Amino acid sequence: MNMRTTRIAAVAGVGVLLSVVAMGGQAVITPPDNKYTPAEDVELGRNAAEEVEQQLPLLRDREVTSFVSETGRRLVDAIPEELRHSEFRYAFQVVNVKEINAFALPGGPMYVNRGMIAAAKTEGEVAGVMAHELSHVVLRHGTAQATKATKYEIGTLLGAVVGSIIGGNVGSAVAQGTQFGLGTAFLRFSREFERQADLLGSHIMAAAGYSPTEMASMFKTIEEQGGPGGPQWLSSHPDPGDRYEDITREAQLVEVRNPVRDTRGFAQAQAHLREMAPAPTTEAATRKAASRGPSPVPEGRLEPDQVGPPSSAYTAYTEGGLFRVSVPSNWREMPSNSAVVFAPDGAYGHVGGQSVFTHGMEIGVTGHEAHDLRTATTEFIASLAGSNPNLGRPSRYDQVTIGGRQGLQTVISNMSDATGRQERIAVFTVLLGDASLFHALGVAPHDRFSDYEGTFRRVVRSIQIME
Ligand SMILES: [Zn+2]
Repeated sequence: MNMRTTRIAAVAGVGVLLSVVAMGGQAVITPPDNKYTPAEDVELGRNAAEEVEQQLPLLRDREVTSFVSETGRRLVDAIPEELRHSEFRYAFQVVNVKEINAFALPGGPMYVNRGMIAAAKTEGEVAGVMAHELSHVVLRHGTAQATKATKYEIGTLLGAVVGSIIGGNVGSAVAQGTQFGLGTAFLRFSREFERQADLLGSHIMAAAGYSPTEMASMFKTIEEQGGPGGPQWLSSHPDPGDRYEDITREAQLVEVRNPVRDTRGFAQAQAHLREMAPAPTTEAATRKAASRGPSPVPEGRLEPDQVGPPSSAYTAYTEGGLFRVSVPSNWREMPSNSAVVFAPDGAYGHVGGQSVFTHGMEIGVTGHEAHDLRTATTEFIASLAGSNPNLGRPSRYDQVTIGGRQGLQTVISNMSDATGRQERIAVFTVLLGDASLFHALGVAPHDRFSDYEGTFRRVVRSIQIME
């Protein structure tokens, strides 16, 4: 459990940063504060790429991959001089899955889903998403986000970054999270970073010969994508507000140099894709990868009917330098990258490539951008719904004291798609510092919840936050 090494560092230099300045003309973009070096971006990205390529199937088709790498190359050449990093190694791969998605890793590796290329109406639309992803890399947003996050050093950077990039169910499995995987909420790009990537992406597109309005139109295509959980790309790249208007306005301020007219590569790539067997979903592809190797998640067996009641004796745990908590002595500590789970035997296991627990508590910390506890809690619960599609919404919040601070509590219902059972989740939250939300989640089957509720409260009363 990575939280064992958690330290609360002094909150240093994380201020509000006005990083996009319009100066009568096109936006001027300043990379955010970053305590990592560009070389660390490269190393982190390389490790994450290895992980990604074990989990996701790459498409080995010359027409399609050369179209994507040529487009990528053209965009890389259009990166503004002052934002270039000579260490970065750009590489472009196509993932053979059907969702309309793409992601890029720190230091340069980029992955474009086959579904994205198939869904694009023009070459410029593919270039638009790639230019946006490339901008996150150039501005080093992954490690900048981690710079903010590591105040509480939850999870390894690798697990969290990969998890947040792949996202959703798959992301939490990759991040070795629990079913309430938090990587997505924790390292999803902030709205400020999204705005920067939209604007820098517009500049890069124009310099590469594409109209930035095609990026906006691809975002519309992504938004219209249906299916369970909705478009995953948008959960890691939230709309900073007026996304289309801002890109369109920026498009009027930039000059498209040497417009790309020859789009035979794009037409050929799409034609090739149509001839291939249909792409699997990311979930199916990842499950297949998981069945090939040892499970990345800790061992456990899910036998909810065999779970004994919580012991009345309690055992104390200290999680790194972050918090102390006492839990029933028959609950074991389950390692997880993004949080810690305490669960009894039989209540923890793996279903469909995900870690799941049916009884017990998860305790952890996530980043947030909200202005108050109530909003942060509502957004946190909404983020849980990413890997728990049947999760209910809180009807009310009550006050609770957690570690001597004023917190909130609520109970929500969930239909676990892993176990097919109704369960209830007691949610307890409190703010830490200015951008972190501490949470404790008590989970029990619906018909056993009243037996567990007192235990959850007792565990929460025992929490001491160390700062
Ligand atoms: Zn983005």
